[in-house]
Amino acid sequence: MFYFIKMSFTSDIVIGLEIHIQLNTNTKLFCSCPTTGDNTPNSRTCPVCLGHPGSKPVLNKKAVEYGIRLALALDSDINKELIFSRKSYFYPDMSKNYQISQYEIPLAEHGYLALKTGKKIRLTRIHLEEDPASLVHPAGMHSSNYVLVDYNRSGIPLLEIVTEPDLASPEEAREFMKELITLVNYLGIFDNNTCIIKADANVSIKESGYIRSEIKNITGFKEIERALIYEVKRQKQAIANNENLIMDTRSWDAAQGLTRRIRTKETEDDYGYIIDPDLVITDITDDWIKSVKSGMPELPQQKLARYIEMGLSKDDAVVLVADFRMAGLFEELIKTIEPVLVARWLRRELIRVLNYNKKTLADISLDKKALKDILTLIQEKKITDRTGQRLMEKLVEGSFDVMDYVKQKGLEIIDDSSMIKEFCNKAIAENPKAVEDFRQGNEKSLNFLVGQVMRMSRGKANPAEVNKLLREMI
Ligand code: ZN
Ligand code: MN
Repeated sequence: MFYFIKMSFTSDIVIGLEIHIQLNTNTKLFCSCPTTGDNTPNSRTCPVCLGHPGSKPVLNKKAVEYGIRLALALDSDINKELIFSRKSYFYPDMSKNYQISQYEIPLAEHGYLALKTGKKIRLTRIHLEEDPASLVHPAGMHSSNYVLVDYNRSGIPLLEIVTEPDLASPEEAREFMKELITLVNYLGIFDNNTCIIKADANVSIKESGYIRSEIKNITGFKEIERALIYEVKRQKQAIANNENLIMDTRSWDAAQGLTRRIRTKETEDDYGYIIDPDLVITDITDDWIKSVKSGMPELPQQKLARYIEMGLSKDDAVVLVADFRMAGLFEELIKTIEPVLVARWLRRELIRVLNYNKKTLADISLDKKALKDILTLIQEKKITDRTGQRLMEKLVEGSFDVMDYVKQKGLEIIDDSSMIKEFCNKAIAENPKAVEDFRQGNEKSLNFLVGQVMRMSRGKANPAEVNKLLREMI
């Protein structure tokens, strides 16, 4: 539910987001059932998360601390008292007929997240609430005769973030989501493998006088952009066709790439919030905030500064930090390998090969040991950069034993200068024109000759050595 109604907008497109982030605590928000593990339906449940009468919720301290972490990272004001309310609604995913959430006073308010341009996207609020159960439609959403309910998800802690309608394009919404996902990963409060982040987006355009539609349950930053691009186009088309837009709630069909009306919305839903009498008010003291702050993992901005301090170029540092997996890989590799070399090879080569294969680190299971072996061989000058590049290409296809492979294929650098000399002689004899050009002062001709020798050595000669030898010999 969005809390703003009408404002004086100026941009052509106005977008606000409401995001639900599943937290990776070990146990649920109000009971000690595990959040992950056995996926047999309804196996991770107890009277509290099944909503049995008489069961009493007990607040998970860790979930609150995770909320404080995010609030601090997003520069929000944290409220002194943590108060939970019951949000009443009737639906099979909520056996108590109310969801424990926060209403009047959220955990935190007035934060922001800055986009790359420096534009600040203001956050209305951040609050804690429990996830409902998941509904399973055995024959698909539209043709099932009945619905199954799995309460394993019921009670998993969520952080809900509501933004002001500050986003002015689908691209900005995508960037916002991407930055937020990166941040929660760095904060250690979200696990990409087990947690889900979902967004509802409200969007309106100037041409309609900002009559907004709300699109529910969009997963991932790429989908956010797709859904919003579609929705903006739909609204513009409707205006062009002289249709009147009305406020509505829509679903996003990712497979077909379109939004569909679920219901029209005249007024805000009335959930009849009441303060939950089972949960005492929790004081969030300055000392508590201070201790959470001191235990915070390194934030992206701090990481960036540290990498630059290590001697990385700003460009390399920015690229590594932008992807928490890449940064994690970097940190692991620099335990034994020189940071500037690692940064150069991750950014230039690994990312190049991934891009070429239209993949990201998230899509492949990278053999870290093999990567470490390749970079070690490069650092110790046992293989040439050319060989290193070829090994990186092979690595993205799947794991292999680098040391074995290099030995078997004879890829180690040729240090045998008599053999290199032989190749140089051959290159000189076969390319009299290039030799003559170099003698006339054309440096490029030497590069050509070096290239010939490298080709003869199948990339295994040391290029610096070849360069030196050729200069001596010509
Ligand atoms: Zn439980
Ligand atoms: Mn919610």
